[in-house]
Amino acid sequence: MVVCNLNCPSCPLAYICIPLAIGAAIAFKRYKGKLQKRRFASQLGFLFISNAAFIFGATGLIYTYFYCWESPFALMACPIGVIEHAFADRTWYLLPYLIGFIAFVSIIFGRAACGWACPIGFLQDIVKGRKVEKRKEIDKKLRMMKYPILIAIPIASYITRALAYTDICPIGGLTATLPHLAIDPYGYTFTFFFYPKMINVAGFFILIAFITRGWCRHLCPVGAMMAQFNKVSVLQIKFYEEECIKCYRCAAVCPMQINMPYENQSGECIRCGKCIDACPKNALEFKFTWQ
Ligand code: SF4
Ligand code: SF4
Repeated sequence: MVVCNLNCPSCPLAYICIPLAIGAAIAFKRYKGKLQKRRFASQLGFLFISNAAFIFGATGLIYTYFYCWESPFALMACPIGVIEHAFADRTWYLLPYLIGFIAFVSIIFGRAACGWACPIGFLQDIVKGRKVEKRKEIDKKLRMMKYPILIAIPIASYITRALAYTDICPIGGLTATLPHLAIDPYGYTFTFFFYPKMINVAGFFILIAFITRGWCRHLCPVGAMMAQFNKVSVLQIKFYEEECIKCYRCAAVCPMQINMPYENQSGECIRCGKCIDACPKNALEFKFTWQ
């Protein structure tokens, strides 16, 4: 177990922490607006919580975002890993546990975990890839890719009786394989899947460098699970049309390229609140349905 002793020169994980700390310090300037400052604090807090097993141990809870449970300090289980285990091992009792977790959080907050909690979302906000306005139509079609991926994962696990997606998962590669390799480079066991996984990690970075929140938009199967709840969640983005002056600053800042303010219930919305911060007339607002 590696615990931070603030001795970076001797720490094998410094290659993760130092760029992350520098990136976060640079990215903080981009978090403009009241909600964005809070979001930055929330993302930092969840990055810590996601890796807090060195305090609490592994809890048996499930992340409601994408994070690998084989990370050295993983506090909870990966939702995709739980699906795979259920289908590969025929441990069906895992499914209601998983669905209950995801549904409980998503029915309250919609897809807000993507915008406020997910460390992979945080990484994408730090990298801040280029937007893709010119290819809006293609982008819209490519967004559908995450749904077949979500459907293919249990099928592949059922047929192969293995964690077929985990073997090549770029998020697992980034948050588990590379840290384990850094901690114990001589004891690490390379499998057949190491290089395909590393190619996917490289592909992940290329994607997020070129497309803002490219992973969330196109490929994230956890985002696909939660997207369905945005229309019915308790937390909504309320649009006051009578206040709107149609300046479309909300649409301009949206990292998911949603046609705001009109698609305020879109399944693609990660509830980041950038549109709310950008609106000069307070025509958009986070509201719980009982308010
Ligand atoms: S930023 Fe506000 S005022 Fe401008 S179009 Fe969007 S909702 Fe309307
Ligand atoms: S619609 Fe608003 S809250 Fe949703 S992703 Fe876009 S900027 Fe963020």
